Amino acid sequence: MTDAPWVLFDLDGTLFDYEAAESAAVEATLREAGLAPTPAVVADYRRANAALWGPRGRGGPPPAALGGGRGGPVGGPPRGGGGATAGGGAAGARGETTPDELRVERWRTVLATHGVGDVDTDALSAAYVAHLAQGTQLIAGAQAVLDRIARDHRIAYITNGLADVQRPRLRDSRIGDYAEVTVISDEVGAAKPDPIIFATAMARMGGPDPGAVTMVGDSLSADIAGGNAAGLATVWVARPGGPPPGPDEPVPTHRIADLRELPALLGA
Ligand SMILES: [Mg+2]
Repeated sequence: MTDAPWVLFDLDGTLFDYEAAESAAVEATLREAGLAPTPAVVADYRRANAALWGPRGRGGPPPAALGGGRGGPVGGPPRGGGGATAGGGAAGARGETTPDELRVERWRTVLATHGVGDVDTDALSAAYVAHLAQGTQLIAGAQAVLDRIARDHRIAYITNGLADVQRPRLRDSRIGDYAEVTVISDEVGAAKPDPIIFATAMARMGGPDPGAVTMVGDSLSADIAGGNAAGLATVWVARPGGPPPGPDEPVPTHRIADLRELPALLGA
């Protein structure tokens, strides 16, 4: 199968259900802090988190485990904006606060709001990352799609995230074994859409013809922009109900509304 075409998959929001993983990690972390994760408390956490990372962008880097070597946020804003990739969001981009401080600050804020004191927020922040690393929930149909695609394609993963989060998730999930190559921004020191991470992936894939590689992802600003710039065919998995793309946003080669449409599109 060495001459089979490659499919390069984003992970969070494309194969992994990041929102489910994040919710579970937030709830487990709040419990450890002695705070029952009621809907109101979780909403307060999300507000504190979103406020720290700046305005939400659409289709940006995964909320996931962002924050690789360049210091993007870990668990930054859900569907975080492009600014979260390397700059660490609004406050981080202004250089006022480091991403690590921001990661801790969101917990401090929500605990203070609910009158919980005497909690080691550094430890809590670390606990959150550990919980996130256990988030192996998959997008509907992900494994079946990989099974189909793997029959006549080679598979690689390219993800913005922390190695300490993404590696355990891949190891413990049912999708880790499909990829011959996995490239994580944290390990590369560059996050999608940076050409460096795409060049790294392509090199590790053995330098295939870019035109014979398909990038599949849910983020226009990270996956589609980066894939287009690298000369790859791109498939945008657009979530139903999301806002339509703006006129200045990257245009994918193909757009699907559900990952399960992918095998037919690729002729798999
Ligand atoms: Mg994604």
